[in-house]
Amino acid sequence: MPQSESHTVALFENEGMDNPVSVLKRVYGYPAFRGKQAAVIDRVVSGGDAVVLFPTGAGKSLCFQIPALCRDGVGIVVSPLIALMRDQVEALKQLGVRAAALNSSLSREEFMDVRRAIARGELDLLYVTPERIVTPAFKETIGNAKISLFAIDEAHCVSQWGHDFRPEYRELGRLAQEYPGVPRMALTATADPHTREDIIDKLQLHSAEVFTTSFDRPNIAYEIVERDQPRQQLLRFLSRHKGSSGIVYCLSRAKVEDTAEWLNTQGIKALAYHAGMERAVRDANQDAFLKEEDLCLVATVAFGMGIDKPNVRYVAHLDLPGSVEAYYQETGRAGRDGLPSDVWMAYGMADVIQRGRMIDEGSSGNDIKRVERAKLNALLAICETAGCRRQAILKHFGEAHGGQCGNCDTCLKPVESWDGTEAAIKALAAIYRTGERFGTGHLIDVLLGNENEKTSRFGHVDMPVFGAGKDLASKTWQSVYRQLLAAGLVSVDHTAFGALKLEAEARAVFKREREVHFRKDRPTTGKASRSVSASSANAKAALEGSDMELFEALRRARMEIAKDLGVPPYVVFPDTTLVSFAIERPTSSDELLGISGVGQSKLERYGDTFIEVIRNFER
Ligand code: ADP
Ligand code: ZN
Repeated sequence: MPQSESHTVALFENEGMDNPVSVLKRVYGYPAFRGKQAAVIDRVVSGGDAVVLFPTGAGKSLCFQIPALCRDGVGIVVSPLIALMRDQVEALKQLGVRAAALNSSLSREEFMDVRRAIARGELDLLYVTPERIVTPAFKETIGNAKISLFAIDEAHCVSQWGHDFRPEYRELGRLAQEYPGVPRMALTATADPHTREDIIDKLQLHSAEVFTTSFDRPNIAYEIVERDQPRQQLLRFLSRHKGSSGIVYCLSRAKVEDTAEWLNTQGIKALAYHAGMERAVRDANQDAFLKEEDLCLVATVAFGMGIDKPNVRYVAHLDLPGSVEAYYQETGRAGRDGLPSDVWMAYGMADVIQRGRMIDEGSSGNDIKRVERAKLNALLAICETAGCRRQAILKHFGEAHGGQCGNCDTCLKPVESWDGTEAAIKALAAIYRTGERFGTGHLIDVLLGNENEKTSRFGHVDMPVFGAGKDLASKTWQSVYRQLLAAGLVSVDHTAFGALKLEAEARAVFKREREVHFRKDRPTTGKASRSVSASSANAKAALEGSDMELFEALRRARMEIAKDLGVPPYVVFPDTTLVSFAIERPTSSDELLGISGVGQSKLERYGDTFIEVIRNFER
């Protein structure tokens, strides 16, 4: 966009700090706004309310930080987690922005300092927890100070439909009455209509302008595999990501701990995170994940909300997530910096049975159970699709995508399908003939004609279906049953130990009124299956030869600075900026300022250090 860039420079030279574009350039070192950032900022700078629904990595933070810098007074940011506030405040300080956090971890003295800064109008941004902001004490702290705006981050926490519901968020609607005339914004990466309505309603944002963008995350490569030998499969996936950080999600706390321990024995630096751990250990592990660059964090879904580490290069799921929404949020933690990232899931029949049982045995009423079952089926449909995964995911959020994204497993290696009508009839017959009382293990024994204690005891060896499926392998039958489940032709009876039952639609298959097509499972061992990330690796993918060496040297310099300051390395500079350094090799202040991510404050702080690394390297 040459036009907007020259525009930017002109504003920068002629106008003061109050213009959004000049703030973007001078403070953040970015040449232009992305997507709808400029529109949101205009709206709020001129005093309007806004609801911002952008996917992770789209740049929501700038949408409230820049208006707070342009408007008079202190901008108040509501954020649910204290640990993350700290990092955001630190990152702002690095940019030369006057920011502070108000929370229970402050000493009396620190608290008084913040209070004084507010009174003197010496603060641009103040982060607070939702519990605190609605107290009379907070009103007192603010006193007569002018407030530039309220930004409610992670606003989906207000909705009971979301999985991060926080009752305290409900109270935030009161800000509308208590601080009339102050613009309010709600920001989230959650897209579904239910949550959106809740946000507008509960936070009293009826007159807000709603800003949305596509929820596509083009830099994320999707891959879903049939679970075979999960640990070996995981290891192969992780071996593509040596030297970078990522998250492995497991369903249970025990599995989190076992997996982390096992990964360490395999030479992969891994730490565990779940809600049952001692607080101090859990916080330390989270902190290590934010600060280290090559750590695998094995976690339950308790981990992740608000984590804004930009260079998470992969997310793996060893168990099926709770819903398509959860899958999207959890995988969405990869690649905030826009660089290529890989997400991977291994799933199998056991997940389907376990999830179904959790729903059936749960305490929810029948209506909610029906919704939960529908959510599970929507996710299974994405797992079993022979089409583009991205298209299927976006379709779930009501967004059209042409398919053929070229960055998911099914696009990169089209799935073969086979006419499974005969196989389906046999598989269904085995269920029917044995009285809908058995799980897949036994049904497959019957189909394969395996004589054992159970098949003999029940007299199944004498049935015509016994041995009728010898033409297919046991694994293929597993796949057949899984896909019959995903297609809704059979269901699991959890009151009968996971026995399979026929659904009404199965009749049409028996009567040959309906054809059935199955996906061919991919071989899961050996080198035969081309991995998704053959086409995408990490930040370094763009670099070759000596550029790569320089990048490593720059990374070491960054780590040293970060360790000294006790901040995550990306707070100093993101990977994307270091990649540009390595390629463009700036050796003067002006050249440095020309690189995206270098603003005035960081130039002054670190410019010399990085110029020296580059000069020494070129010698
Ligand atoms: P979100 O909160 O929407 O997930 P962030 O606000 O954390 O996203 O932004 C993601 C990354 O993109 C950050 O590193 C941020 O500095 C960067 N970024 C945001 N806006 C721009 C822009 N206009 N140009 C370049 N980088 C940007
Ligand atoms: Zn695709």
